[in-house]
Amino acid sequence: MIELTQISKTYRMGNIRVPALRDVSLKIGQGEFIIIRGASGSGKSTLLHVLGLLDKTDTGTFHFMGRDVNRLDDCELALLRSETVGFVFQQFHLLPRMSAIDNVALPLVYRRRADRVADPRQLLEQMGLGRRLNHRPNELSGGQQQRVAIARALVNRPSILMADEPTGNLDSASGREILTFFQKLNAEGITVVVVSHEADIEQYARRVIHIQDGYIRSDEMRATMVAAGGIAWDSGLKLSRADDLNVLGSRRQPPGRAEKFLKHLSQAGRSLSGNKMRTGLSALGIVIGVAAVMVMLALGASARSSVTRQFSALGSNRLVVRPDAQNIGGVRQQMGAVSRLTMKQVEQIRERVLQAKVVVPEVRGRGQIVWGSGNANTEVVGTTPGYIDIYAAQPAHGRFFTEEENRSRARVALLGLTVARSLFGKQNPVGEMVKINRVMFQVIGILPAKGATGPRDEDDLVVIPIQTAMRRLMGREYFDCISVSASDSESVGQVQESILKLTRGWPRLPGATGAGYRIDNLASIQAAFSAVARTLALLLASVATISLVVGGIGIMNIMLVSVAERTGEIGLRKAIGATHADIMAQFLIESAVLCMAGGVFGILLGAGATLVLSHLAGWKLGISIWSILLGCGSSAVIGICFGLWPARQAARLNPIDALRHE
Ligand code: ADP
Ligand code: MG
Repeated sequence: MIELTQISKTYRMGNIRVPALRDVSLKIGQGEFIIIRGASGSGKSTLLHVLGLLDKTDTGTFHFMGRDVNRLDDCELALLRSETVGFVFQQFHLLPRMSAIDNVALPLVYRRRADRVADPRQLLEQMGLGRRLNHRPNELSGGQQQRVAIARALVNRPSILMADEPTGNLDSASGREILTFFQKLNAEGITVVVVSHEADIEQYARRVIHIQDGYIRSDEMRATMVAAGGIAWDSGLKLSRADDLNVLGSRRQPPGRAEKFLKHLSQAGRSLSGNKMRTGLSALGIVIGVAAVMVMLALGASARSSVTRQFSALGSNRLVVRPDAQNIGGVRQQMGAVSRLTMKQVEQIRERVLQAKVVVPEVRGRGQIVWGSGNANTEVVGTTPGYIDIYAAQPAHGRFFTEEENRSRARVALLGLTVARSLFGKQNPVGEMVKINRVMFQVIGILPAKGATGPRDEDDLVVIPIQTAMRRLMGREYFDCISVSASDSESVGQVQESILKLTRGWPRLPGATGAGYRIDNLASIQAAFSAVARTLALLLASVATISLVVGGIGIMNIMLVSVAERTGEIGLRKAIGATHADIMAQFLIESAVLCMAGGVFGILLGAGATLVLSHLAGWKLGISIWSILLGCGSSAVIGICFGLWPARQAARLNPIDALRHE
């Protein structure tokens, strides 16, 4: 059944080499009862770990049920451990957070074949622990813990049972009970290998192997096996008789994927809730990260839409024609010094450029406006009624001036909101007389609020008829610019093209170089601003991403700690048949659960913050489903990626190395 040939194993501790097994050759047959005896430090445990497939050897060959162990991969080893070996550790290695019955049932999770298994409850009842099923290991005595450990070794109905110093911690009566129980198991066909340093238990075995300093010194068969006596519990296992299906232990399907998943899930829940404070703190990074993503995305979207909104208020399909500064004889001239915009050009654009919807001349200058004892310095804009269409400037109160008033140079004015407030406070200015640069004007209306574009206050202005402005106020002959709005956004380019052609025929001073006129496309400026807003949104998103990554690192940290703390547990799980993949799945589910929980709280927090912000600051912030998905998805991905690596580290260990890790 088991055949070791010239096995040796040496531990290395830094530079010191500790040979634990030297040239050990051993055959163990089906149904034997073997006691391996030797002094402390002679290599017994090492040998038993090798026999139990928990540790690797340095040299020699090892056949286990006809298979070359050195050639088996992780999966095949796990299967063999799960199906054939029951191991009782000297330190028991029960999982402290699980009840006795859950500890016993643990190997069932990792079964992979339909096979007969024992019922954990019945097993514990037969071992006299019927009333301790739900106690945790720390609530049990040493002897009781040992019985739980034995029950766990038996639950998968192994064909070989190995026990390391099973009587070491017990009084002699309890020790005999254990041995009697082992003898019963042996009588039912299970091969039993017991390791001990006590001389007086040799008599209970059929075969005794003495080991000293890693060498096998003697290997004797005994004619008779003395019954250990004492009350042994009823094993009731009847393991040898394959047809004995209904005697304890029934044929059971191995757990399916869903069942395994649920087991892992509840395990994750237990381990996370076992340390609530730590779980909460480690998920905090993800919570904040997800919330930040939501708020930042909302802010970015709001910035973009507000830029679009403001530009549409300023006239979205707008072109501005101005005289360009030019060089005459290498000297750069002041703007407007060389080329002139007059009503003639306005008429030309109106007639020749078909897609030009509105064509409006403008002059601009500073003016001192006085009412009563108040006065303000503001921008004076002279224009025509077409201004309403280009700037969406339908007066909020009162009316705009008419073409007739413009022609007759009427002294009427519309005030921007800022000017109206600073002069009139809460009073209604419509109908009042004000002085602009010492000329009397009647206020006929208030312009609608525009807000600010950048540092510029779009409400700090006075609008008057252009003829009045040029003849009565500023004494100018030419317009500063002509604003043209195209009928739609597609024709902006075309309009620009046609006006450019027109400007070539417009007057220029002799000797001037360059085109003489410049056409600014506000649509392209708007595009530039949108790009800025997009960049801003991107910036915000990347800040949020960084906080998510930081959150992920928090998760990784805690998973590292968790794995380090539970390396022993990982070792145990591998020892009872868990594969690499099982361990990975367990930790993956755990970190995913942690991240998901963080994600859910993050979404709640983010939604709350968004609502509060839009309430307090008056911004229109929306919660988009995308930001929720992004937050959730990225937190889960980050958590899983960062959780996987530490789990991999642990799952790669030899079970026995991992167990020793504590
Ligand atoms: P026993 O179980 O007979 O007391 P062990 O098999 O545990 O003996 O140990 C055999 C020898 O190997 C001892 O000298 C012990 O100090 C050494 N040893 C055991 N485990 C390790 C280890 N993980 N690292 C280094 N040396 C070890
Ligand atoms: Mg030992």
